[in-house]
Amino acid sequence: MASTKGDIGLIGLAVMGENLVLNMENHGFTVAVYNRTTSKVDDFVNGRGKGKKFIGCHSMEQLVQSLKTPRRVMMMVKAGEVVDHFINQLVPLLEKGDIIIDGGNSLYTDSDRRTKDLATKGIRFIGTGVSGGEEGALTGPSIMPGGNPEAWPFVKDIFQGISAKVEPGQQPCCDWVGDGGAGHYVKMVHNGIEYGDMQLCSEAYFILKHHLSLSNEELHQVFAEWNKGELNSYLIEITSEIFTKKDDQNPNTYVLDEILDSAGQKGTGKWTAMNALDLGVPVTLIGEAVFARCLSSLKEERVKASKILPGPNPLDCKSHFTGDKKQFIEYVRQSLFASKLVSYAQGFTMMRAAAKEYGWKLNYGAIALLWRGGCIIRSTFLSKIKDAFEKDPNLDNLLVDSWFTSKLAECQVGWRQVASASVLYGIPSPAFTSALSYYDGYRCATLPANLLQAQRDYFGAHTYEKLNGKKGEAFHTNWTGRG
Ligand code: NAP
Repeated sequence: MASTKGDIGLIGLAVMGENLVLNMENHGFTVAVYNRTTSKVDDFVNGRGKGKKFIGCHSMEQLVQSLKTPRRVMMMVKAGEVVDHFINQLVPLLEKGDIIIDGGNSLYTDSDRRTKDLATKGIRFIGTGVSGGEEGALTGPSIMPGGNPEAWPFVKDIFQGISAKVEPGQQPCCDWVGDGGAGHYVKMVHNGIEYGDMQLCSEAYFILKHHLSLSNEELHQVFAEWNKGELNSYLIEITSEIFTKKDDQNPNTYVLDEILDSAGQKGTGKWTAMNALDLGVPVTLIGEAVFARCLSSLKEERVKASKILPGPNPLDCKSHFTGDKKQFIEYVRQSLFASKLVSYAQGFTMMRAAAKEYGWKLNYGAIALLWRGGCIIRSTFLSKIKDAFEKDPNLDNLLVDSWFTSKLAECQVGWRQVASASVLYGIPSPAFTSALSYYDGYRCATLPANLLQAQRDYFGAHTYEKLNGKKGEAFHTNWTGRG
C-alpha cells in the first residue's frame, strides 16, 4: 500500500512552526515536518503530534520525497542566513514548479532577492508574514503572503484555511499582498505599528500611574473599560489583564511591578523606521517607539542621570493632580486614540510610498482587513481604515478621511491636555507628543522650512523656490553681499 504523501512540508519545529503545523493538520492537511535538531521531530511526532497526520522526517531528502507535487515546503526558522542555507539545500532536491515558502520575519529585500533568484531556477517563492505569535499560529494567524504570484493558487487553500476569520462572512485574514518582498514589507510595517501601539499603552499607563496615582487594580479597570469602546483591541485587552497578575511565589506582589523597565527588540521596528527614513516619509511615532525602547535599555545611565539632571520628578506624583480624575482618564483615552489614528495614518502613507518606489500594487483596504484578526494589532477600528480606502482608494493620508477627521476633532482637548501635563510634570511621553506634533505639522499650511531653505542657500548655495514663483524655478541670494 502506498503511504500517504504530505500536502505541505515544514522546516523548523520551534514555537511558530510547531503551532502552525498543528493548525494545518487540524484543517485536514497532512504535513511532513523536519527540524535541524532531528530529536525535536521525534519529540513532536510522539508528543503534541501523536496520532495526527504528520510525517516525521530526519533529512531534507526525506522531507522532499514525502510531498505531493508540486511540492510546497515552508520554512519557519530564524530569519537571515539560516533561510538561505535551507533554500540552498532544497533547490537541488526540488523540481521546476515546486514552491518554497518563508514564513519567518525576513527582511523584505531578502524576500525580493529570493523571489528573483529562485524564479531563474524555475522554483516559485513566497515570502509571507505570519503574525499572532504562538496562539495565533495554532488557532488562526494573520498571514501576509507576497513573492511569485504564480505560487499563490497552490497555497491559497491552506493559508486561507488556517488563517483567522473575521465578520462579516468569516473573511480570512489572509490574501495575496503583492510581488517580490511585498508580503514581508507589509509584515514589517505591521510590526512597526505594533511597536507604536505598545508604546502608546505604556505611556497611558505611566501617566495614569504617576500623574493620577492609579493603583494596578484601577488601571485594570480603566483599560478593561477602554476595551469596550473604540479602543477595543487585543493589546488593550492583554494590558488590562497584565495589571492584575500576581506573582505565584509572592501573592502580594504584582508581576508587572517586578519587571525591569528595560525593553528588548528584535529589529522589525528598527527596519520600519530605517525604511521610512530611506523613503523620506515621516513615520515619527514608530521611530519614537523604537527609540523609547533604546532609551529604556540605558537603565544604569538613567538611574545616574535621575540624580543629576534638574526638572520635575515624574515619579513623585503626590502633589501632581488636584482636578477631576475621571475627566483626566477620559483625556488619556482620547490621547491614546488620537495618537493611534496618527500612527496608522503614518504606516499607510509609508506603504503607499513603498508601493510607488518598489512597483507594488498594494490594496490598502485589504491590508487593513488582513490585520483585523489573528495578529497582535487586531482591533475593531481597522474596519474604518478599510472603509476609508474603499471610499477613496487614492487617499493621500487617512487623517483627511471624514471618519478620522471627526474622531480627531473629538479628541483634541484631551490630547492637548495630556501632552501639556506630561511636559509640565516631566512625564516622558514621546509617542503622544510626537503624534500631536505630526498632526499639527500636517495641518499647518505654512511651516518654518522657509528659514531652513534660506540657511541652506546661505551656507551651501543650495537655492530655494519662491512662494509665488514657478514650480522648480531656483533662486539664489548673495546673503553676505560678498563677491
Ligand atoms: P526561532 O527561535 O526564530 O527559530 C528557531 C528555528 O530555527 C528552529 O527550528 C531552529 O532549529 C532553526 N535554526 C536556528 N538557527 C539555525 C541554523 N543555524 N541552522 C539551521 N536551523 C536553525 O523560532 P520561532 O520563534 O518559532 O520563529 C520562527 C520564525 O517566525 C522567525 O523568523 C521569527 O522571527 C518569526 N516569528 C516569530 C513569532 C513569535 O512569536 N515567536 C511571531 C511571528 C513571526 P534547531 O531546533 O535545530 O535549533
